[in-house]
Amino acid sequence: RNILAILGFSCIIAVIALIAVGLTQNKPLPENVNYGIVLDAGSSHTSLYIYKWPAEKQNDTGVVHQVEECKVKGPGISKYVQNINELHSVLNECMERARDVIPRLQHQGTPVYLGATAGMRLLRMENEQLADRVMAVVMKCLSNQPFDFRGARIITGQEEGAYGWITINYLLGKFVQKSSWLNLNPEEDNGQGTYGALDLGGASTQITFVPQNQTIESPANALQFRLYGKDYSVYTHSFLCYGKDQALWQKLAKDIQVASNGILRDPCFHAGYQKVVNVSDLYKTPCTKKFEKTLPFHQFEIQGIGDYQQCQQSIFELFNTSYCPYSQCAFDGIFLPEVRGNFGAFSAFYFVMNFLNLTSEKVSSQEKVIEMMGNFCSKSWEEIKKSFAGVKEKYLSEYCFSGTYIVSLFRRGYHFTANSWEHVHFMGKIQGSDAGWTLGYMLNLTNMIPAETPASRPLSHF
Ligand code: AMP
Repeated sequence: RNILAILGFSCIIAVIALIAVGLTQNKPLPENVNYGIVLDAGSSHTSLYIYKWPAEKQNDTGVVHQVEECKVKGPGISKYVQNINELHSVLNECMERARDVIPRLQHQGTPVYLGATAGMRLLRMENEQLADRVMAVVMKCLSNQPFDFRGARIITGQEEGAYGWITINYLLGKFVQKSSWLNLNPEEDNGQGTYGALDLGGASTQITFVPQNQTIESPANALQFRLYGKDYSVYTHSFLCYGKDQALWQKLAKDIQVASNGILRDPCFHAGYQKVVNVSDLYKTPCTKKFEKTLPFHQFEIQGIGDYQQCQQSIFELFNTSYCPYSQCAFDGIFLPEVRGNFGAFSAFYFVMNFLNLTSEKVSSQEKVIEMMGNFCSKSWEEIKKSFAGVKEKYLSEYCFSGTYIVSLFRRGYHFTANSWEHVHFMGKIQGSDAGWTLGYMLNLTNMIPAETPASRPLSHF
């Protein structure tokens, strides 16, 4: 009986010990994650993105994701020339947000990058000293934070295009990592499975894709890189002044040349819409230089007439297709291979088409989009304001122009046909992360995309 009692007691002890071991093993280990911050200093606004990834898996594809976006108050950094001291405090608000989101112990190890895009490229063209002053304030603000500040610079249009392409293909899982013994013929799919990237900002627009069976005739548009053991030959171009805000300035400058009475009857705005524009604002940007003319007035008035067809006609005139030094061009003499395969269209392409309810695959045939745009533009400004009471008036008044511009750019600028249009997918976020250049930029600069061969140039050294 004693032996039985001892055995029973031992069993109980063993069970307790097993439970205790089990409990300690199930205790969640401290999270081993890393963070990174990228600020996108665009022409109209700045956004701060915080990314997070498991430290031990950082080279796997698809593990980095966005955990926060903070929109910096006010306009883009290039607009702070007159009140440069305010820039510090508005940026600081989003940096404070980052200090809250990222655990304090990890602040020091968190890299921070800022990339400025076409708004700053234009300011640098107008006045390099002013652009340097803005960048100096930005750098001072970011280096005073508890994070690992790794630089603020004006990125090139090529980089903006390339990193946008990397971001969407990374998030869509197109860079599939295969071990070399499984990947019998790594050349068989040289990028055909990737998505092209279409990015629209306020000051520039980028198109980036792997051409199918076509050589890239202009070296300036060719990028070669090796990602996850595969070679990609990528075409990219950034059209400066063809972002949607600068394209509108261009159109106004072109059309006002022939309106001698200071009234511009404009088909790209709704009937009943009126707005006064200063000629000095019109000619402030380098993008309108080619249309500059001495006008007999200092101000003019836009009067909307809401006509999609006429608006499209006026926008078509912005794309000069009269010369091409290559076998084929987009416009303004820029080489463009045939647009084939799938494309992801993001940033303002998405904002505008999403507002117009034109992003769903069901309504997205070119014919249907044109019909719906015609219908939208023909509505009076009164009716539009009533139907969309909560929408910011600046955006609302311009959706007819912006939507028409997008359709015109795709058709006349990039030569999308009714068929190839079917493969354009408008996307805002992919798996919770915004589509845009910032994620690709960070992945590259933190060496999170293994290449295998040091022969390819790092993207930051274009
Ligand atoms: P950027 O600041 O250069 O990145 O350009 C962003 C562009 O998107 C600008 O033309 C903005 O006016 C525009 N934008 C941002 N949000 C919206 C929105 N909700 N609807 C329409 N346009 C937008």
